[in-house]
Amino acid sequence: MQRDTSHESAPDPGQPAPNSDSSSASANNLLQDHTLPRRNGVNASCEACQMSKTECSGDQPRCLSCAQQDINCHYASAEIETEVLMRNLLEERKKGLEYQYFFNAVKNMPEEESQAVYRLIRQRADIKTVVRQIKEGNLS
Ligand SMILES: [Zn+2]
Ligand SMILES: [Zn+2]
Repeated sequence: MQRDTSHESAPDPGQPAPNSDSSSASANNLLQDHTLPRRNGVNASCEACQMSKTECSGDQPRCLSCAQQDINCHYASAEIETEVLMRNLLEERKKGLEYQYFFNAVKNMPEEESQAVYRLIRQRADIKTVVRQIKEGNLS
């Protein structure tokens, strides 16, 4: 007895194609991560387009022209400056909290510890270091 199924080759149910061009995408993501591009109505040309006097599509993170040439697209826009400013501001605020903490800690500090803090400051330790030392109790 023979089964009559040998001639039909079962069609492969279609393997999902592996996404092969993820390498360029991930490189792009790295760049994005660095500059935090954000569309904010600023219509500036990217640096490459400015240099070559090409009309820039203004696409972020990469404009059409740069995408076609497969080169890095970089916008020297005001948004980035704002972002740096914001970061500095946050940094200042954090520092302010650290000074507050420092002040309160010193108020309640035993004499020897405050001497240690004093020494640290004289050694030009910055506020971060001083506060960390206080928190860790590394003062004697
Ligand atoms: Zn461009
Ligand atoms: Zn570009």
